Amino acid sequence: MAIMNFYDFHIVLQEVPGEISICFSISGCPLRCEGCHSPFLWKKGSGEKLTKKKYESILDKYSGFATCVVFMGGEWHKKELISYLKYAKVKGYETCLYTGLEKVDDKILVQLTWIKTGRWNQSLGGLDSETTNQEFIEVKTNKRLNYLFIKN
Ligand code: SF4
Repeated sequence: MAIMNFYDFHIVLQEVPGEISICFSISGCPLRCEGCHSPFLWKKGSGEKLTKKKYESILDKYSGFATCVVFMGGEWHKKELISYLKYAKVKGYETCLYTGLEKVDDKILVQLTWIKTGRWNQSLGGLDSETTNQEFIEVKTNKRLNYLFIKN
């Protein structure tokens, strides 16, 4: 199983409303959306290896503080992503994937609490835009929760 590389991780509040998330940016995004906010993620193998040991120690460190684990991409490392999501759930975290695809493999989907789908399209805007092509979905109910991102 090829080990996924990650560019970095941050503790974030906006990617999943209501959650304190550990957010991993995974290298090697194949989609190359025009106007991509993170072109440094395109190159396969950039950043450092997200080994099982490193991943688990980050989750263990933030356990009790962070509530959710978010992957920015990584669906192209299916087996590894599934096993990392499973570990997050065992440790009591909610899980979320931000993908540029319209849908992902069901085996990934069942490990997720939320999924953000859709490519970046500058003219339509992101999740905080009424015209966006992107969707933020609660997987269990298939509910579209984009309204949580729209500022009044
Ligand atoms: S899916 Fe995200 S990271 Fe990948 S090219 Fe599109 S905007 Fe960039």
